[in-house]
Amino acid sequence: MSVWDDAEALKTLGDTAGGTEETGDGTGYPEGAKKLKEHMWTERNRAVVRLAKARRLEQTGKLECDACNFDFAKVYGEDGVGFIEAHHRIPLASFTAPTDARVEHFDLVCSNCHSMLHRMKPLKTALELKKHLLENFKRPGATHSRGSKSRA
Ligand SMILES: [Zn+2]
Ligand SMILES: [Zn+2]
Repeated sequence: MSVWDDAEALKTLGDTAGGTEETGDGTGYPEGAKKLKEHMWTERNRAVVRLAKARRLEQTGKLECDACNFDFAKVYGEDGVGFIEAHHRIPLASFTAPTDARVEHFDLVCSNCHSMLHRMKPLKTALELKKHLLENFKRPGATHSRGSKSRA
């Protein structure tokens, strides 16, 4: 299961936010951390996520990462079939209730890209991350191309 489903992770996030980080506004609780908590909480809307995955399978026959095209089924075989994580794309501030979540609001991403999406500030979409990845892989001297291949 995904780390984003872990209640302990949410708790730790809250503790960390209230503890060591300087917020500047004296509340000891940065708005960003609160937003991230809400974001992760809404991602638990499993019914919507299930529907998003089912719809994608129906349309493309596979569950590839929207950012890097990683396919768990292709790489991990039987164990990877049906596995992909869902990332909520819309800022939660625009929702009045968790039930507002829709299939169109979710990016389907691999675990690596999902983690990176949450590290990037401000919050990015899978499409934005994809552009970022393409830029990096294109650049001569980027780690994965080792400079020579992309120049050939
Ligand atoms: Zn990915
Ligand atoms: Zn996410």
